[in-house]
Amino acid sequence: MSLLSLIFSPSTIFNDFTDLPEYISGKIVLASSLGMEDQVLTHVVRTVRPDIGIFVLDTGRLHQETYSVMSKTQEKYEFKYQVFFPDTHAVQGMMSEYGPNLFYESIEKRKLCCFNRKVEPLSRALIGSSAWITGQRRDQSVTRSGLSVIETDQSHGILKLNPLAEWSRNDIMDFIATHNIPYNVLHDRGFPSIGCAPCTRAVGPDDDVRSGRWWWEDSDKKECGLHIKSKG
Ligand code: SF4
Repeated sequence: MSLLSLIFSPSTIFNDFTDLPEYISGKIVLASSLGMEDQVLTHVVRTVRPDIGIFVLDTGRLHQETYSVMSKTQEKYEFKYQVFFPDTHAVQGMMSEYGPNLFYESIEKRKLCCFNRKVEPLSRALIGSSAWITGQRRDQSVTRSGLSVIETDQSHGILKLNPLAEWSRNDIMDFIATHNIPYNVLHDRGFPSIGCAPCTRAVGPDDDVRSGRWWWEDSDKKECGLHIKSKG
């Protein structure tokens, strides 16, 4: 277990966020999907490191419940998310050529949609930053089992911090309850992982956390391109 992994434990996360400048110089940003992990991180950032900006990638296909938690979080922590939308021309062209539900037709078309609605906006969101924070956890899926707490994001040439890598789902839920953090009500309706509305569905209590994401695809392909394998 790395030093950073130990530091980023549920009981000491506040200390480490306060000490982040010791490890990283330059601008640090938090990417929030409004999921439960990112709500934990938003609480920590707004409490001890409010200088860290928080951005949301609004794909245009999010659940209404996700917008609701976005509003509640802004009100509670008195800040505004920086919101990044897809490139209008890219989405217009994609929808005109392939229709509104292209993601169900093939992995290639699903990845094209994810690229236009998530990956390209992320690149814009990270311009000028030296590190970004994510809420990824190792036990979320087979694609994240080898996740490091600190990685080099080779796609963007910056550091990627995954402070919750070793947290369990129970750790997250306990932290949210203890600190009365707003969270997406879909988590109470069988959605442990929440993405775009047409690509997310409820799962059973014993199912893989991300099994409701792109459920028609193989489990080893369930990533949208935001978190392509980085160097740990
Ligand atoms: S999750 Fe689905 S709707 Fe959202 S960007 Fe990816 S393919 Fe498109």
